[in-house]
Amino acid sequence: MAKTIYVDNAATTAMSDTAIAAMARYYKEVYGNPSSLHTVGQIAKEALVRARAEIAACIGAKPNEIYFTSGGSEADNQAIRSAAYGGLAKGKKHIISTAFEHHAVLHTLKKLEKEGFEVTYLNVHSHGNITAGEVEAAIRPDTALVTVMYANNEVGSVLPVREIGEVCRAHKIIFHTDAVQAVGHIPVNVIGDNVDMLSCSAHKFHGPKGVGFLYCRTGVALQNLIEGGAQERNRRAGTENLAGISGMAAALKEAVTNLEKNMKREAALRDRLIAGLTKVEHSRLNGDRVNRLPNNVNICFEGVEGESLLLLLDAKGICASSGSACTSGSLDPSHVLLALGLPHEVAHGSLRLSLSEYNTEEEVDFIIEEVPKVVEYLRSISPVWEELEKGERPHLI
Ligand SMILES: *Cc1c(COP(=O)(O)O)cnc(C)c1O
Repeated sequence: MAKTIYVDNAATTAMSDTAIAAMARYYKEVYGNPSSLHTVGQIAKEALVRARAEIAACIGAKPNEIYFTSGGSEADNQAIRSAAYGGLAKGKKHIISTAFEHHAVLHTLKKLEKEGFEVTYLNVHSHGNITAGEVEAAIRPDTALVTVMYANNEVGSVLPVREIGEVCRAHKIIFHTDAVQAVGHIPVNVIGDNVDMLSCSAHKFHGPKGVGFLYCRTGVALQNLIEGGAQERNRRAGTENLAGISGMAAALKEAVTNLEKNMKREAALRDRLIAGLTKVEHSRLNGDRVNRLPNNVNICFEGVEGESLLLLLDAKGICASSGSACTSGSLDPSHVLLALGLPHEVAHGSLRLSLSEYNTEEEVDFIIEEVPKVVEYLRSISPVWEELEKGERPHLI
């Protein structure tokens, strides 16, 4: 097989050597339970305290505002349910979100709607973003929570979190943001960004899978989803995943230390990819062109089926995605691309390339060379493309 070119970093990332090295110690030497009173346990507890402080420092939080979870999905579930039920106790049952959130948010909101909550899903428009003004316009007297992602995992739009936070502060509404694609990739600071709750996941920044955290600002009540022991100050029961937490701390420190350098490198590769791939006729870049993650490219090719494109690219060693990993496997087009107003047939032909600092210019040039060939081949065997070319149906892009 050809050398693997991994450009699916929004789905997950390869672990960094630093993170792996940090973890090994906690399987072999520091194996204690942080709740144990003996020496082995207390050494583990010290490591837990250290990791919490390191992680907090990376986002401008205080250590006791960090709650470790099993990842981004759990953090989203806990934040949203906690704020919703907390609001309900005060007679508030309205929530504001967007139509292109991750399923960890959307499916939690759907469940809450079944329980009697009312949710406004803000439209994201064809340019792939929302404004703080639109959030403000949706606020009702009974709004308990605004949950808006920091950056979109499929199309890379970076949302105006700081401004949305200001609006929420002014109206005394809890503001949660799913920052899984942002933390470790772009500057995030919970104070400057005016957020009350923030979700994060280690495996999106070269840390281990199955571990993440929820930031919850001091003074904002947090309800627990998992009953059991008194871990995480009674907010999340279960023996701490100390190796994972330490790996996450190491990966996040590394990511934040190299943030500027990595952003610059990725943005240059991103722009090279965009320039190269949008030369293909009847293609379209999706997502916000200006406020965009440095590592995201998302392009639709008309007359092409995304899944076929992926499989043919995979055969050439290029690992990409046609949407979020959670939606691949189903034949429905991505809810994110539909939220951007793309017609079904166009949304079906999408390709997401998500970079990391491990990617090289040679890899990018190989992609720029290969994708147009595959698109051309798929169009040559596509009955839809034939109709488009004969003018029997109009081009949509
Ligand atoms: C990956 C991702 C999640 C889920 O995180 P897990 O740790 O895999 O549960 C949530 N939100 C966004 C935006 C993501 O990209």
